[in-house]
Amino acid sequence: MTLKDLVKKNPFLEEMINFYNLIKQIQDEAVPDDIEINLSSRKIADRIEKGIPLIDRNSMKRVALPRSIQTFFDLLAMVKEEKAGIRPAIENIEKRWMNEQAALEEILKSILFREEVDYRKLKMPPPGRLGPPGRLGSGEETDFILFLGRISLWPSLEKLAYQFESGIEQSLIRENGLCPLCGSSPEIAELRGREGERILHCSLCATRWRYRQIGCPFCGNENQKEIEFYYIEEEEGLRVDTCEGCRQYIKTIDKRKITGAADPRLEDLITIHLDILAQSKDYLRQTPNPVGLTRCVIE
Ligand SMILES: [Zn+2]
Ligand SMILES: [Zn+2]
Repeated sequence: MTLKDLVKKNPFLEEMINFYNLIKQIQDEAVPDDIEINLSSRKIADRIEKGIPLIDRNSMKRVALPRSIQTFFDLLAMVKEEKAGIRPAIENIEKRWMNEQAALEEILKSILFREEVDYRKLKMPPPGRLGPPGRLGSGEETDFILFLGRISLWPSLEKLAYQFESGIEQSLIRENGLCPLCGSSPEIAELRGREGERILHCSLCATRWRYRQIGCPFCGNENQKEIEFYYIEEEEGLRVDTCEGCRQYIKTIDKRKITGAADPRLEDLITIHLDILAQSKDYLRQTPNPVGLTRCVIE
């Protein structure tokens, strides 16, 4: 089976993939910010061994994110163009953050350093409260800003990940389910090679790292009785790994059986029916997908 076959099977995917492609186009043209890790190679090796992410407030050279902020506004302009129904809400967001770029930079840094955003100080409602249909409600607007903030950081983080990955030992099985570079959770897993090596893909910076065959990357649970695999008939090579310990799941693509596209984010979108399957059984997705969805079933 190829991934193209899957897209054909799920016509509702088209709109989502189109939206992702528009995001991708902006990303491809974006100029990354210069963010540099200020650690000696000995300290880098030490952190990797101990499972401490390389990115945090103390390990970086002074971080300024003017280009990521530019990407944020480019993405916002694209959404304004595409989603006529919420255009007035987007215009308000644009107006506010154009005038508060220092605060916006703080939000991006909080995402980068895995710190809690100070919503009170920024006069923003906490994320996750749905507003009335047809326009962005208060908490939903915060969700949207965080989503755009995350994806605005992609180009800069991917550049760093690219430099970093060439230096990490790929054959080494890491004990940690968190990204060794940025400390985020994985978005999707794949199996490859003769032995079916399990590779995790970071949801934020796109770093890949090898992880043990059995075990939940979110809570570390290794109890085989609590880890289950779900398959879909006629879709050999796709599976969902669920964990009873933390009630979360991760999707896995077996690259020995599935061929086609290699962009893990696109693969994540194309397999959204597996999110729906897992979430209908009340398992949670930890990280948003590339178009910002964490909840994929309509309640
Ligand atoms: Zn990462
Ligand atoms: Zn777990």
